[in-house]
Amino acid sequence: MASLQQRLPENAPGDFFVDSTCIDCDTCSQLAPAIFRDHGDQCSVYHQPENETETKRAMMALVSCPTGSIGSTERHDAHLGIDAFPFLLDDNVYFCGFTSESSFGAWSYLIARPENEGGNVLIDSPRFATQLVKRIEALGGVRTMLLTHKDDVADHKLFHKKFGCERVMHADDGAARLGAEVVVRGEEPFQLDPDLLVIPTPGHTRGHVVYLYRNKFLFTGDHLAWSPNRQTLTAFRSVAWYSWPEQIRSMAKLLDYEFEWVLPGHGDMYRADARTMHRELERCVAWMKTK
Ligand code: SF4
Repeated sequence: MASLQQRLPENAPGDFFVDSTCIDCDTCSQLAPAIFRDHGDQCSVYHQPENETETKRAMMALVSCPTGSIGSTERHDAHLGIDAFPFLLDDNVYFCGFTSESSFGAWSYLIARPENEGGNVLIDSPRFATQLVKRIEALGGVRTMLLTHKDDVADHKLFHKKFGCERVMHADDGAARLGAEVVVRGEEPFQLDPDLLVIPTPGHTRGHVVYLYRNKFLFTGDHLAWSPNRQTLTAFRSVAWYSWPEQIRSMAKLLDYEFEWVLPGHGDMYRADARTMHRELERCVAWMKTK
């Protein structure tokens, strides 16, 4: 719970605030950009909510903050934020909110689909928060958990225990050690079911993979994201723990695929028609080669 005593001086006067425990994951500034901004090493409130829509967004950020660093001086119904998750993005794909500190606030997603189409799929792990778990349960639980890489596994064990889901992960990121039931090996793409393709993308980590759903949604972990500052697709050179040249090679491989959504663990989501996406990806690869 956020502490008023630790309220950051950068906050605008008024109800909502961020305290000094903020780890600068940017979840709040992405979820509620009209309220929160990154002022440097941390985020703060620069505009206090003025209507119900803005208050709801602030509450969504509050429940999603991995460190409980967002507070308010007035009372608000927590369900304003809680009940918004999982948050529908498009078709049957949801953003889970409720990020976890152990994955530095990484974002996770849910594909809701009937059992005869393979059942629900969780991509990377949100925080195992009771309110979120209940809502996922009401949507049919979790049949499969896709893990993009070792940094963003958070509460995967608890989700596995609760729902009995099979976890999918690459061997080179410690899949066996983490207990994954389906272990991906090598660099060849792997068709998990008719709608889901696993594409190994070494670079950020050695065993990083991305998941392509219905040639429309690409779940990219820490491989690829949208940069709001540069207004372009981007990759993170400073956290290419395994190999930047490998990450460039992995990025170029994605030019062989069609998709309309980039859904990352960190960084902004991006949506465009497949042609625009391809053009943006080409720009990204060219930019990476200059770094
Ligand atoms: S969501 Fe929480 S930890 Fe992340 S930037 Fe906002 S206040 Fe900081």
